[in-house]
Amino acid sequence: MISERMEAKGLSDFEESISFRQYFINIWQAVFSVAKGMWITFRYVWAHKPVTIEYPEVREVLPERSRGRLYNDVADCIACNQCAMVCPVDCIYIASTPKPEGEEIPKTSNGTPIRLNLNQFTIDEALCCYCGLCTTVCPTECLTHTKDFEFTQYDLDQMKYDYLDPEIVAWRDRIVEK
Ligand code: SF4
Ligand code: SF4
Repeated sequence: MISERMEAKGLSDFEESISFRQYFINIWQAVFSVAKGMWITFRYVWAHKPVTIEYPEVREVLPERSRGRLYNDVADCIACNQCAMVCPVDCIYIASTPKPEGEEIPKTSNGTPIRLNLNQFTIDEALCCYCGLCTTVCPTECLTHTKDFEFTQYDLDQMKYDYLDPEIVAWRDRIVEK
């Protein structure tokens, strides 16, 4: 009976010592896992190059042929309508009238005669999908993509740009590198 009690007491002491040991193991594991996590965190903070940039203060250089908002140099536009016809979303609106008989026929910078008066050239940039087809077919190369992508508006109607508006030229001169 006595020996049974002693055995039971020994066993309980043993269980207590295991628990006590486990207690420190748990503490060590907690400290170790926190330290390991912080090591990984600080390694990314100090040793790795950031993958984000602080836009708009920092800007990436856009690829040479990136397609942003369209610009039409209307002085070279012959109102041929080809851009409007090829546009898959019909977002180019052109109106023109024939030049009155006897009026001088001017030429574009590449020598193409301008036989029509351009009365309207509007592009709805809210509809444009930046496919670039209109710039490809333009015979005088007056229609080009700029690199401007910062022209968000609250009202979609404000994204219809009238290229006969002198403000457009001012915008283009501000945006496009000479
Ligand atoms: S880029 Fe494409 S969608 Fe935009 S106006 Fe030109 S043809 Fe139309
Ligand atoms: S294709 Fe070029 S020249 Fe012809 S209407 Fe369009 S922008 Fe003008």
